[in-house]
Amino acid sequence: MLTTHPYDDDKLREECGVFGIWGSDSASALVALGLHALQHRGQEAAGITSWDGRHFHTHRAMGHVAGNFDRDDVIRSLTGTMACGHVRYSTTGETAIRNVQPLYADLASGGFAVAHNGNISNAMALKHELVRRGSIFQSTSDTEVIIHLVATSTYRTLLDKFIDALKQVEGAYSLVVMTPEGMIACRDPLGIRPLVMGTLGGATIFASETVALDVVGADFVRQVDPGEVVIVTEAGVRSLKPFAPVAARPCIFEHVYFSRPDSIVDGSSVYSVRKAIGAELARESPVDADLIVPVPDSGTPAAIGYAQASGIPFELGIIRSHYVGRTFIQPGDQVRHLGVKLKHNANRALIAGKRVVLVDDSIVRGTTSLKIVQMMRDAGATEVHLRIASPPTWHSCYYGVDTPERTKLLAHRLDVGGMQDFIHADSLAFVSIDGLYKALGEAGRAARPQHCDACFTGDYPTRLTDQDDLAVEDQFEMLAERVA
Ligand code: SF4
Repeated sequence: MLTTHPYDDDKLREECGVFGIWGSDSASALVALGLHALQHRGQEAAGITSWDGRHFHTHRAMGHVAGNFDRDDVIRSLTGTMACGHVRYSTTGETAIRNVQPLYADLASGGFAVAHNGNISNAMALKHELVRRGSIFQSTSDTEVIIHLVATSTYRTLLDKFIDALKQVEGAYSLVVMTPEGMIACRDPLGIRPLVMGTLGGATIFASETVALDVVGADFVRQVDPGEVVIVTEAGVRSLKPFAPVAARPCIFEHVYFSRPDSIVDGSSVYSVRKAIGAELARESPVDADLIVPVPDSGTPAAIGYAQASGIPFELGIIRSHYVGRTFIQPGDQVRHLGVKLKHNANRALIAGKRVVLVDDSIVRGTTSLKIVQMMRDAGATEVHLRIASPPTWHSCYYGVDTPERTKLLAHRLDVGGMQDFIHADSLAFVSIDGLYKALGEAGRAARPQHCDACFTGDYPTRLTDQDDLAVEDQFEMLAERVA
C-alpha cells in the first residue's frame, strides 16, 4: 500500500492549497515556490498553469512539488507573466492525473483555468443536471462543475457567467481563476477556506496561507474577504461583493492543525493560537506530572502553552526522524507499526521513571495515540496522560477535508472514558469547544458560531445537498429491501 507517512494517516488532511500570481516575469517559478510552501496542504499531486498573452500552458504531475516543479525544463515551458498552481490530496474524484488541478477548458469566451481549495457540497446534484443538459465531464472532480456552469451560463460577460456559476454552488471554495483578461480570486460567502492577497514588486499574489507569501518574499496585503471576488487585470485590482452578506464561518480547524504555525489566519498567528489552546487545556484539565511532551510536530505549540500555563517542564520526549520520507511503502499491519517507530522514537533517558503528559492536536481514528502512549510506557513512563488541543472529532467534514467515514472516528464510537481505555492512557482530556473559542480571543462559542466547527459539533453552516440526497436514496433502498 502506498500511503503518506504513518502519523499523518491518523490526521484529518487539508485537501488543497492554491497560489496565483499576476504580473511577474518569473510567474511560474514563483508559483512553484509558493506551492512548495503549501505542500503540507496536499501531497498527492501538483499542477501549474501559465498564460503568456496568447496561449495557456499547463504541467500537472502526481507527487510533490519538489521533483516535478524544480526542473528547469518544466518551469521554462510554463511561460508568461500570469500563473496559478495547486497542490492536492484527493477530495471528490479519485486520485488520477485528470483530476489534478488547475483544471482547464476552452470556453466560447476563451481559455479558463481554475484552482480550487474546498469542496462543493451540491456538486453531484449539479452534475446530474448538467449531464442531463448535455455537458460532458472530463474528470470526477467537483471543481469541474464550476467550469460547466460558467460554460452554460446565459449571462453575457465571462465575469457575470462566473458569478452566476458561484451563486449555484454550495459549500466551500477559495478559487484562483485565469482567463485571457486576467486573474480572478474569490472565497465562498462564509469564507470557510482561507485565501490571502499579497504583492511582490508590481505583481499581485493570491495564496491559501501567508506562509507562501513569506517564502517568495511578498508583502501581505489582506485576506480575500468571505464572499469577495477580486479581479486583477491591466486596468488594476477591483473588488466585488456579489453575494448577500452573511456572517463568516471560517474553518476553525485551520487554527488547530491544517495551517502552518508560521501563517496568519483570519488575522491571528496560528502559532500563538495553538499555544493559547494549550494554556486553556492546562486550565481546564490540569494533571500532576513531571514532563509535558509534545507529539511532534503538530502538538508542539499547544504543548508549550500547556507547559507555560501549568509550570511543568516542557521536554522533547519524542524525537522525530527527518529522514523518513512522507511516502512510505507499508505492506502490512505489522510493518505499519514499525513505520511509526521509524518516524518517531521515545527519548528513553528522559522518559524513564517520569509521569508524562502528552499533548497532541487531535484524535481521529485513535490508532496513533494508542501507539504513542504505548511507546511512552515501553520507555519507562510511570504514568501517561493525554491532552488534546481540540474537542473530540466526531463528525465528518464536507468542505474539502479528508475525514474518515464517521463510523471510523474514535469519538463517534466511544465516549471520553471509552477512548481513554482504548488508548490505554491514565487520563484523557480534550479542550472544550468554548476553550477553543477563548483561545481565538472570543468569550466562547456564540449562539451563531463565529467559525465552522462542524467536525466537533455537527453544526454544518451550509446545506449538504449531496449528503441529504444520499440519505434519501439510502432510505429508499432500505424501504425497497423491506418491501421485497
Ligand atoms: S467541518 Fe471541521 S474541518 Fe471541515 S471546514 Fe468545518 S471546522 Fe473545518
